[in-house]
Amino acid sequence: MQCFHCGREVHETRHWQKSYKIDYYRTHTGTGQWDYIESSKENTPPIRYLKLTDPVNILTCVQCYQRPEIKQKLDDDFRGIASLVAEMREPKQPHY
Ligand SMILES: [Zn+2]
Repeated sequence: MQCFHCGREVHETRHWQKSYKIDYYRTHTGTGQWDYIESSKENTPPIRYLKLTDPVNILTCVQCYQRPEIKQKLDDDFRGIASLVAEMREPKQPHY
């Protein structure tokens, strides 16, 4: 398992008698499409949600998780503003 952002090897959460150490966070995301579900209450608009058509798990190590630009990316992905997965699948633009 590797961190999605920096590529370092991440380890499962380790437990000791009185403590434990988390090494990574898992984000369940993927490419998706916006969909609507009818609200069960009357006179309320349908709820918009991102239906995942191609789910993936993204691992973020604890160091990357503390970096504000990475938190921002995860947040944008969660809100459906910018997809982390799309970024991953796009070929890197060569620099000239
Ligand atoms: Zn990392």
